[in-house]
Amino acid sequence: MAYRTVNPYNNEVVKEYPFATDDQLQDALATGHDLYETMKKQPIADRAKILHNVAAKLREHEDELARACTIDMGKLIGESRGEVELVAIIADWFADHGEEILKPEKIDTIATGEAEIQHHATGVIMMVEPWNFPYYQIMRVFAPNFIVGNPMILKHAANTPTSAQMFADVVAEAGAPKGSLTNLFLSYDQVTEAIDDPRVQGVALTGSERGGTSVAGAAGKALKKNTMELGGMDPFVVLGDANMDDVADIAWRARIYNTGQVCTSSKRFIVMDNVYDQFVDVLKDKFSQLKPGDPLDPNTTLAPMNTKKAKEKLQGQLDDAIAHGAKVVYGNEPIDLPGQFFRPTILTDISKDNPAYKTELFGPIACVYKVHSEEEAIEVANDNPYGLGGIVFAGDADHGAEVASQIETGMVFVNNFMSTLPELPFGGVKLSGYGREMSHIGEFAFVNEQLIVKA
Ligand code: NAP
Repeated sequence: MAYRTVNPYNNEVVKEYPFATDDQLQDALATGHDLYETMKKQPIADRAKILHNVAAKLREHEDELARACTIDMGKLIGESRGEVELVAIIADWFADHGEEILKPEKIDTIATGEAEIQHHATGVIMMVEPWNFPYYQIMRVFAPNFIVGNPMILKHAANTPTSAQMFADVVAEAGAPKGSLTNLFLSYDQVTEAIDDPRVQGVALTGSERGGTSVAGAAGKALKKNTMELGGMDPFVVLGDANMDDVADIAWRARIYNTGQVCTSSKRFIVMDNVYDQFVDVLKDKFSQLKPGDPLDPNTTLAPMNTKKAKEKLQGQLDDAIAHGAKVVYGNEPIDLPGQFFRPTILTDISKDNPAYKTELFGPIACVYKVHSEEEAIEVANDNPYGLGGIVFAGDADHGAEVASQIETGMVFVNNFMSTLPELPFGGVKLSGYGREMSHIGEFAFVNEQLIVKA
């Protein structure tokens, strides 16, 4: 029973789900392929209507969906509600804009006749998703590919099976044809089998470097196009003239949101020396005000981590960082509750040879670095194997944007919290992966950009 909902607040085993059978996988592949053939001949507008309906159904079921998400992986109920609303917004956006994005593009050419690029569906997409935003991760792939006409098979994380099934049920209830999104509790071998199957034409994974290497390896071997949305160690750069009230308001949330288990959490705070002490004091103050408790209770402000294993791994990484000379300025004390709680912790004095300098800490640990010039800030920000997102705080937003463009990541926000919206491309460089999800770029991920030249 590898797929299980275990409530991280009280360790109760809520539900177990058996692995999918090979027959179920074969059925899903056959149904998906038949649907691809059918959807090719149908107007996109029909699917846009269904996608609006998916958004409406998500909003209608917000209470149950939010509750299931919190019980699956522990996030605060308010954050779960926010996630449900966000995925509804994404569905509506692709329903409104998806067809326009796929319009043929004329090309100016010296060839005789007229040339254009048409955008066509390609076939079934195998998607592999993580637990940290159980609905949002699915929707980033589902909405654009449903509009395109690519059916999808979903393998979600082993610890969020209830959310995965509920999302697929909402899609079916909204009127999406069978095969549009088939959720299966697949083993890793079955994922590889699906990727090898000729009916599968694309692979989308969001997850760790470990998961990404295996799945991208299988996709590469089978010559299947793939997108990889992997880990991050996003820098949060505070320049000397930054508005410290804004920094105080945003920095702690950038680290603690979703209990710090976000690929784009600010994991490295790179702070100019003149505001460094003030910054550390503010972060300590904010962290110390957090109230651990039941994430279903709207008064709780610190949720548990998603699993015992994740908490133990993070504690091991923290111990290792301390053994290599990092200083604990706040935290690293147990929380006396039965769930998977981890006290938010602030680390400083992390030398380059400390494993914490280049390892993603996927939980509420803030690493703070003191720098003495803007050049040094950019150098530290870029001295990292990952390149997902980042935040820059500067007195002048235009100057902040100049600094941002020197940071080697896929996304940087200036003087603001990093947010995600359907019209903004999401993705990274270096070990954070390749390809983009969402926006017009995400919609082209698995299309055949077919050239047609008419004499
Ligand atoms: P993970 O272990 O890689 O798991 C992600 C998904 O991949 C799960 O469904 C997992 O299944 C599956 N998986 C792992 N190895 C596989 C294999 N060999 N074959 C088939 N499927 C496989 O990731 P995680 O550690 O749970 O998630 C956190 C990581 O995701 C962090 O590094 C975070 O930064 C990253 N992340 C990136 C983004 C982004 O957009 N860039 C967004 C969110 C999270 P099981 O659960 O069954 O193992």
